[in-house]
Amino acid sequence: MRIDIISVVPDLLNGPFSHSILKRAQDKGIATVNVISLRDYAVDKHKSVDDYAFGGGAGMVMKIEPIVACIEDLKSRTEYDEIIYMSPDGQLLDQPMANALSLKENLMILCGHYKGIDERVREHFITKEISIGSYVLSGGELAAAVVADAVIRLIPGVLNDETSALSDSFQDNLLAPPVYTRPAEFRGWKVPDVLLSGHDANIEKWRHEKALQRTKERRPDLLK
Ligand code: SAH
Repeated sequence: MRIDIISVVPDLLNGPFSHSILKRAQDKGIATVNVISLRDYAVDKHKSVDDYAFGGGAGMVMKIEPIVACIEDLKSRTEYDEIIYMSPDGQLLDQPMANALSLKENLMILCGHYKGIDERVREHFITKEISIGSYVLSGGELAAAVVADAVIRLIPGVLNDETSALSDSFQDNLLAPPVYTRPAEFRGWKVPDVLLSGHDANIEKWRHEKALQRTKERRPDLLK
């Protein structure tokens, strides 16, 4: 999978992809994440990527020309399955959406800043708009990193234990059961006996019961 992220603050995206699972996915050649600086596509000599909003009001708007130049340049080299704009008014990211995106080959993600992007970009180029939650961030970069992380870890071969993504919360509409590791007893607090029993069927049954109980208590909406 290839994910190309367009940003006015590309440095914000240096960290998330250079460590741990996301780095390993790239080292293995399973996923490639490229961060493209929108400023490289600015058309005037001041390299400006934003301007005042028509109609007035506080806040700058990201200009259409650099964004279109950038999108068209990328499209001339790669065929994208989706051109995504990160936006608080987009479709809420959830596990089914991450699952669906993980099956794609090439994704482009445009990060907004300031008051957002000129609406004409959304009308004519964007194929999907994603929100990571009902709150407003200062830019789309952290949101794009969240999407890329949720998607890349699902690609087969990224996680060491192939089944581990399938047993996470939200797969099967259940939250994950509690987990424990050594020591089996700490300050008198014991790990549930069944997990030490070595009896796979009983362990599986216990985990399912706990997952169900936790979902009923915390997210009954998932069970509807
Ligand atoms: N004026 C806009 C918010 C702009 S915030 C509004 O009220 O809807 C600046 C940028 O941050 C947005 O263009 C978007 O790319 C990003 N952003 C902010 N909140 C987000 C969220 N919840 N999900 C995804 N992207 C978000």
